[in-house]
Amino acid sequence: MPELADKRLLITGSAAGIGRGIAELAIREGARVVISDIDDAAARRTAEEIGAAGVANCDVTDQQSVEAAVAAAEDILGGIDVLVNNAGIEVASPLAAQTVDSFDRIFAVNVRGPFLVTNAALPALTRSKGNVVNIASVAGVGGSPLLGSYCATKAALIQLTRVYAVELRPSEIRVNAVCPAFADTSMVDRLRVDFEAATAASFGDLVAAKQSRLGTVEDIAEVACFLASDRAAWVTGSHYVLDGGLTAS
Ligand code: NAD
Repeated sequence: MPELADKRLLITGSAAGIGRGIAELAIREGARVVISDIDDAAARRTAEEIGAAGVANCDVTDQQSVEAAVAAAEDILGGIDVLVNNAGIEVASPLAAQTVDSFDRIFAVNVRGPFLVTNAALPALTRSKGNVVNIASVAGVGGSPLLGSYCATKAALIQLTRVYAVELRPSEIRVNAVCPAFADTSMVDRLRVDFEAATAASFGDLVAAKQSRLGTVEDIAEVACFLASDRAAWVTGSHYVLDGGLTAS
């Protein structure tokens, strides 16, 4: 029996990168998936390429657009069993040099976004006794130079995960987070350029020394899909660190 047979998933930021990887694995594991992204054309292309059930796009920072997307996803799928809060952005800047606008934007996407989408999906998740998987980061567990505001948003997302888990336990809704180190997506392509410009060190050497190699979207999708599945029935309020040993050393 596939791990996610008949599960209905809504995944934000799933036109590309980790969100797309989770969508692809979930579909292989028997799920029906709605792709949601701020990039309409990319979302439609991805949905067609991977055989998703449909598209329900939104900007996760915008309450009206979030509520419309969640309603559309429910219509397409006939309910929602799993919400994956994956949409996120990065900013590479020393905190002292960061503009207020970019600080506010990263909190809007990475923290307000999961808050808005989770609340919008709660009626559906309550009906299905479903679960939420938040894509946080190892940057929410430890500090990293140049990623101060990003670290703060991901620490906030881990805390949202814990408190939602406790508050939603009476409704039998599980809420967990995944905390990957650097993984091979366009976000890391951008960060590589920013890090090398700021430090003159080799990003590849840094990754090899600290986490052995870049993560793959499949590394992350495996754990996200496990948490989404009934195999994780007793797992809630947890955050799973996937980092090639980074935080162990
Ligand atoms: P990515 O930039 O490759 O993809 C992010 C997707 O989110 C894009 O399709 C983008 O259009 C979408 N998006 C951006 N802003 C949005 C918004 N306001 N509303 C809806 N969609 C929006 O990034 P990725 O590496 O795949 O990252 C996905 C998640 O994983 C993020 O939350 C990121 O912080 C987290 N993460 C990434 C890494 C990594 O190394 N790549 C490590 C740890 C955690």
